[in-house]
Parts: sequence; structure tokens; C-alpha cells
Amino acid sequence: MDVIDNTYPFVRFKDINPNEVFKNIKTPAYIIDEKKLIENGEILKGIQDRTNAKILLALKCFSNFNLFPLMSNYLAGTEASGLFEARLGREEMPSKEVHVFSAAFKEDEFDELLKYADHIVFNSVNQLKKYGSKAKLNKKEIGIRINPEFSTQIGHEIYDPCSSGSRLGITLDQFKREMTDDLINMLDGIHFHTLCQQNSDDLEKTLMAVDKRFSKYFKNIKWINFGGGHHITRFDYDIPRLEKCIKYAQDKWNVNVYLEPGEGVVLNAGYLLTKVLDTFKSNNQNFVILDTSAACHMPDVLEMPYKPPLYKADLKENKILAKLGGPTCLTGDNIGEYSFYKLPLENDLLIFGDMALYTTVKNNTFNGMPLPNIYILKADNTLEQLTDFGYKDFKYRLGKM
Ligand SMILES: *Cc1c(COP(=O)(O)O)cnc(C)c1O
Repeated sequence: MDVIDNTYPFVRFKDINPNEVFKNIKTPAYIIDEKKLIENGEILKGIQDRTNAKILLALKCFSNFNLFPLMSNYLAGTEASGLFEARLGREEMPSKEVHVFSAAFKEDEFDELLKYADHIVFNSVNQLKKYGSKAKLNKKEIGIRINPEFSTQIGHEIYDPCSSGSRLGITLDQFKREMTDDLINMLDGIHFHTLCQQNSDDLEKTLMAVDKRFSKYFKNIKWINFGGGHHITRFDYDIPRLEKCIKYAQDKWNVNVYLEPGEGVVLNAGYLLTKVLDTFKSNNQNFVILDTSAACHMPDVLEMPYKPPLYKADLKENKILAKLGGPTCLTGDNIGEYSFYKLPLENDLLIFGDMALYTTVKNNTFNGMPLPNIYILKADNTLEQLTDFGYKDFKYRLGKM
């Protein structure tokens, strides 16, 4: 995302002074913004109310279950990548739907998975043949993931299921060759997931590609799942166009439509607090070393890669450049270069924005880095601490007590 207004992820700090509210928190720490979650939720609920589509939370993006009672007011359920996430969705949003997609399911887990899941989506004809009848006998709805072979992403190929060499979804060619009438008749639904941080114009083009290629197989299905990657709650997202796409599918195929965004549900709903450990000049550049690490605490900064927004940095009036990095031994543990009004110094508090997504679910203790504790910043501006991580969480993921 191009941050057009770099104060946007920090609008909450118009109501509160973060230096005051966060002053007793040990850094690094993640803060989940309840008020922003509610605002995002209202947008998603509006779409569901107007269209009858159902929106699920993709748990791989955000699994902080203490927020699920609140979030379930706005969502139809959860989408899981396998057994553990399916169980979490069933346990923590018990009255809602649980959907699961995996590139392949494990034999010794499938019976347990049947206890949690309502919808199971397969990635291959083999998997459909192997598990489809059993799932149907257990009254589950089943679908298959298709690959429309219509790429709308440029750049990050590791996030593009339509890139050449993708293992995700079956292509039209495979569908024609391997899907017998019996197999097609078993299907309750179709799933596609091809987007990543995209707007609804790309969804529209993708839907047209799906329509053109696969429509003739959609006679008996009950639902289509549009996958995730819809940046619905971003300020420039075109919601009317999304709703047009939903209506198009509903009218043309007489189906229910599901969306399963991760990022779109929790966009801008979190912060990562960190303190400056050291500032120095080297090779004519300013370096600032933080007590947080890109590699450990925001791995998508390196994987995607992207530069996260930083509170009060990169404003027009800022003239001083500095590179921010973690305390680990990894040469590439750099968060990015930012401009400042004055150079950050030891013990200064820095706040990264948009840190609810793909952070707490992905972090690690490489280099013996601690896991940041997780807090909720409630709508009434009070804080609740959810975790108390320490040395034990580093040690006992590596061996026995
Ligand atoms: C990753 C993923 C999602 C969620 O993607 P976001 O980019 O976080 O919206 C949804 N469905 C599937 C199948 C996924 O792989």
C-alpha cells in the first residue's frame, strides 16, 4: 500500500497521547486497537447486511482469540489453514462457521478436523477423491479451489497463487481432464483466492476470468468463496464495486458468496511499541538500533518486503534521515530508512503502525529475542495485558522441561 497520508494508521493518537498511555509498558510490545477493530467490523457488517454475502476472518493473519467475542459481532465465522486454526475458530467463535482450506490434509488429522469444520476446500482432485465422500457423510460442505490463471499482482510472486509454478488451485486444463461428472456433482462450492492487498477492480477482473473459464461447471453449486486479499477497510477501497461483484455471482449462479479476508479485517488495528537502544553514525549514515527486530517481530517486513509506517516519521517537515534496525546478528535485520524531525535517541519510544496483521501469528525467538507482550487498547482508552512472555517461552519451544 502506498501510504498517501502517513498519519492515517495513527488517527487514534488524535484522542490520546501515546507517550502518556503507553508509558508503563515494557517494550517491545504489540497493542491491538479495539476501537479500530470495531470501525473495521462496522464496514464489514455493512457489506454483509446490504448483500447477504458472508465475511470470514482468515485466522492465519490474526488469531488473537481474546478479541473474537467482539469480532464475532461483525463476522460470519473463521477461515482456517488446517487443524489447529480450525479448532481455534470452533472454540473461540463457537456459534459461527468454520471453513478450512489446505494444500493437502493429513490422514491422521482428518477425523478430528471433521469435528470443527463446516466447509472443507480441497486443493487437488486427488484430495477430493480421498476425503470428499467422508466429508459429505459427515454432513460437511465441500469445495475445490480453482486457479483462474489470471494474475493481477506485480512484484511479490510468493503471494501470487496465479504466478507460474503455483501449486494452489486446479487449472481449467486439469479441471477438464480430471473432474468427472460424479466429482463435479459432489461439490457444494468453488473457492478461488488470487489477491493480496488489492482493490475491488482486481477482484472484478478476476471474477470475469473465473466466469469465462469455469462458469459452465457452476450449475449445481451452492456457494462461491472469493478468498482473501481484499483490502476492504483501506481508505481508498471501492466498496460499491465489491458489492457489484457479489451481486453478479449471486444473480448469475444463484449462490451464496463468501469472502475470507485477513488483512482487511484488522487493517491498521495494531501498533508495535519499541525503544531506542542506541544511535550512531557510520559510513555517513545515521543508524538507530531498536529493541524490536524485523526478523523476529514483523517478519513480513523482510518477506514481503515492505516498510511499515512509523508514528511522526516521514512527515513533510522531517529532514533527518536514519536507518532503523534490530539488535540481532542478522545483517538484513533492517526495518527501513525514515525521516525524522529530530534524531531518535536512547530510550525514545517509537511506534510502528498497522501491526495487527501477520505479526503476532508469525513472530519467533531467533537470536533469543523475547516475544513482545500483547495488549488491548480498549475503546475507552484503558489497557489490558493479554500475555506475560519471558525466558520460558524462548527455552521450552526448544526442548523438554
Ligand atoms: C492468506 C489467505 C487468506 C487471507 O488473505 P489476506 O491477504 O490476509 O486477506 C484467505 N484465504 C486463503 C485461502 C489464504 O491463503
